[in-house]
Amino acid sequence: MLEELRGLLILQDRDKRLLVLAKDLAKLPQEEARARAKLAGDEAAVKHAKDALHAVELRVKKIEMDAETRRTTVKRLRVQQFETKKNDEYNALGHEITRYEKEVDEFETQELQAMEEVDAFRTKFQEANELLGKTRAVVETDLAAIRDRHARMLEQQNEVRSERDKLVQTVSEDILPLYEKLLKSKEGTAIATLHGGKCTGCNMKVIASTAIAVHSEKEITQCENCGRILAMDE
Ligand SMILES: [Zn+2]
Repeated sequence: MLEELRGLLILQDRDKRLLVLAKDLAKLPQEEARARAKLAGDEAAVKHAKDALHAVELRVKKIEMDAETRRTTVKRLRVQQFETKKNDEYNALGHEITRYEKEVDEFETQELQAMEEVDAFRTKFQEANELLGKTRAVVETDLAAIRDRHARMLEQQNEVRSERDKLVQTVSEDILPLYEKLLKSKEGTAIATLHGGKCTGCNMKVIASTAIAVHSEKEITQCENCGRILAMDE
């Protein structure tokens, strides 16, 4: 094989690795975002459970206050009833007291029910919190793994880059611009091999003179279809 071509193939290998690394590095922010997104659902569930708990706790307080107001009224009416000397007023106050006591009773029943709801919502809130904690641990592990991978990839990128910098010095200046132009326009494959008379870059059969030129290994030959530099299939 042409010595120049051998050098270019090694260079292309490093360039391909750099391209893959750059693509993988570009995917990391998305991976991070996906990992973090796992938290959003659980965080919303915790907030929802907390709001529901808070609402029912407020309801208990309101019922307690309502009951307390009636109890105070009952006390006041009892004093009035105790002090009255009139029979009909005594009876009327008695009815009032019964009515208010019934209301107190109803409020107490409501309070008991609401307190059971508080217990249920508190359990739900705790469960949602526990789930969030577990998810957070998973997400932290995922993020740590992504960070590790990021660091390793940067390290690799530096290594390959410095290798590439050395290799590129050994490539003739006559051929380097063509190679670099093809590398960009042909998605990282500037050099293709000739296999069964076909260019492996574009899959087209090359004309006889091109095949002969490649086989003679005397000069850099390009595929007449796609322009890639052709190497012998070894
Ligand atoms: Zn071709």
